[in-house]
Amino acid sequence: IIMTTMISFWLISLFASIYLAHWSQKPVLIAYEKQKNFVENASHELRTPLAILQNRLELLFQRPTATIIDQSENISQSLAEVRNMRILTSNLLNLAKRDDGLKVELSDVDHTYFEAIFENYQLLADNSQKQFSNNIALKGSVKLDEGLIRQVLTILFDNAVKYSDPYSEITMTVAKIGQNLIITTADNGYGISDDDKNKIFDRFYRVDKARTRQKGGFGLGLSLAKQIIDACGGKIEVQDNQPKGTKFIIKLKV
Ligand code: ADP
Repeated sequence: IIMTTMISFWLISLFASIYLAHWSQKPVLIAYEKQKNFVENASHELRTPLAILQNRLELLFQRPTATIIDQSENISQSLAEVRNMRILTSNLLNLAKRDDGLKVELSDVDHTYFEAIFENYQLLADNSQKQFSNNIALKGSVKLDEGLIRQVLTILFDNAVKYSDPYSEITMTVAKIGQNLIITTADNGYGISDDDKNKIFDRFYRVDKARTRQKGGFGLGLSLAKQIIDACGGKIEVQDNQPKGTKFIIKLKV
């Protein structure tokens, strides 16, 4: 009996320690896996513009006597790739900085804050030929981080402009319901399939890689937007807009 008890005891503690070791390792493994994925994705994204750049520069070398005008196509494509790499590296730095811990600083804002963001964006996107409209029904003030929420809205407007045809409508609504501030942005552009809706907040995820690359997208904007909204203790969701397009809903406790 003593032998059986000792063996059972030994077996139970062995399984318990394996179980505990497995679960205590899990967060470390997941973090490592995520970091590995991130580095792989970032390197992959940089490889394409670098390969194009190399190719273009080699073409320039093949005709050393050609004038700048003769080579203008190669030069402008090279510049476009350098510009892409600059945007990507600054996005990556931004994300890395945010990973170190995002500091949320609250201040009081009222409807004028949202009107200013909307109008400034509309001016910036003047030549995008979209139709902008808003409904900001906010009485009194609410507390939020001005810089961070502006950054999220800019990402959502940028996407609404990028993923819709000329003359599409882009709208924003702001309302306070109970203790929640509800902000929506919507477009009647290409829309996002149900399957892709679950993935668009992942880093580097793009629905149509060829098309988004053409539009200068790296699949980092929405992951940054979600990171910010999470840090603010809020929620961001995506839905179909009616009759077509995409709608993002942000819910913040204020
Ligand atoms: P990107 O820089 O590629 O735009 P995001 O993380 O901002 O990266 O978006 C991820 C992907 O989600 C985009 O590549 C695009 O395919 C899709 N997407 C985002 N916003 C919209 C939208 N308003 N309409 C349609 N597709 C969108």
